[in-house]
Amino acid sequence: MVGSSSFERVGAVSLGGVSDPTGPRRYLVHTYGCQMNEHDSERIAGLLEADGLVAATSEDDADVVVLNTCCIRENADNKLYGNLGHLKTWKDAHDGRQIVVSGCLAQKDRDIVRERAPYVDVVMGTHNVHRAAELVTEARTGGPVTEILEAAVIDDHAMFPSALPARRDVSYNAWVTIQIGCDNNCAFCIVPAVRGVEISRPFVDIVAEVEALAADGVSEVTLLGQNVNSYGRDLQLAARHAGDTSAKLRPLFADLLRHVGAVDGIRRVRFTSPHPKDMRPETFGAMADTSAVCEHLHYPLQAGSDRVLAAMHRGYTAERYLERLAEARRLVPDLAVSTDIIVGFPGETDDDFERTLEVAAAAEFDSAYTFIFSPRPGTEAAGMEDEFVDPAVAGERFQRLRVVVERSSLLKHEARVGRVEEVLVEGPSKKDPTVTSGRTRQNKLVHFTPPRPLRAGSYATVEVTYGAPHHLIGRFVDLVAEPNHRTRIPVAAG
Ligand code: SF4
Repeated sequence: MVGSSSFERVGAVSLGGVSDPTGPRRYLVHTYGCQMNEHDSERIAGLLEADGLVAATSEDDADVVVLNTCCIRENADNKLYGNLGHLKTWKDAHDGRQIVVSGCLAQKDRDIVRERAPYVDVVMGTHNVHRAAELVTEARTGGPVTEILEAAVIDDHAMFPSALPARRDVSYNAWVTIQIGCDNNCAFCIVPAVRGVEISRPFVDIVAEVEALAADGVSEVTLLGQNVNSYGRDLQLAARHAGDTSAKLRPLFADLLRHVGAVDGIRRVRFTSPHPKDMRPETFGAMADTSAVCEHLHYPLQAGSDRVLAAMHRGYTAERYLERLAEARRLVPDLAVSTDIIVGFPGETDDDFERTLEVAAAAEFDSAYTFIFSPRPGTEAAGMEDEFVDPAVAGERFQRLRVVVERSSLLKHEARVGRVEEVLVEGPSKKDPTVTSGRTRQNKLVHFTPPRPLRAGSYATVEVTYGAPHHLIGRFVDLVAEPNHRTRIPVAAG
């Protein structure tokens, strides 16, 4: 489930280096969109490095620029073509420079990209990540290449980004893909069209990757998929069809949490994102009795009106959502809950919106990603023009919803004042480098000032002294564990 929580980040996978025309070719990856895209970018970077390229610090010293695109945000295509216009000037300035467009927008609009930007060297889709280095080489010798696979290749190495060489920017935590694609058909979402049907990665391969990461010093992993709690359904059906009558016809996600949580060296396990309709008591049970699994659940509501939920094809009612949430909180003590909510879905009435306010208030979220609906070409909802909500009305509803969710965030955060929390140190705060930032097990951002600098990846205890809607402030108590990763993990073959 890629809820709407995903899309704001625009990052560059890059590390230091000095331009040298006689040295190795250099690459830069710009990433738009969700964690799945960020993870794909790490893999693209890893494959290019395995092919002899090194990271550039900027476009000025890069030979290859990859735009790993996302089509979920509004105007994603306009932004892409704007960036490509700028990159044409960059490319024309030096021989041998190459532009790669990958990701969801490339998958969806391959012909349009080619037509509007024929100078792009490689257009590759979401199922071609494993081919990144070869395609760059092919384009260098043979001219522009477009390669879009319509479905995942049935080969674990190609299919799952995690099975490929990785170039991780952060060495103490890692994403691990457990599943690709999505079998749902949420009316607002383009993911099924661009990522294909749900395919689970074999259980043993996931556990083996987590073991390898732990051996490299990674202590926190985030299991990644579009709908993680249906993980394994396809594997078991396939086993049944192959004649294995002992294959359990239930998702394996709870088992996976237990196994990954038991890997030596893994202190924290997170996952994103589950779908409320597939959320099961077994998952809450595994969260509760696996100490490494963090007390945080991203639980996308999307809307509080049953009528709108049905129009979205979400597969649950507000009542069911709240019942499962109550069960999760009962089974997992001190559970923090975040969500995604869309305001102004086509046909949403004032009354529908009031239901969303009520459910959001009743759910008492720790944090919420709230969005005003905007149509994504290719989705069912984009064709519901007759029912589009007046932007002024949607804007006003959005502000009212923000008040409700910020109020509950603040209450949740204030309630943590006085508690001593375990914090995984991320490093100096972006706004004030004299302050250290980290995350609690509940995924809350905490700022504090230790007596001496702490390395990223350290675990410390911090007493919470202040709660704001989006962060906590705390007092350093103790250093619990130093990181044991190397400062820079080299590219590792999967
Ligand atoms: S279709 Fe629905 S469940 Fe699937 S990725 Fe999109 S929002 Fe998530």
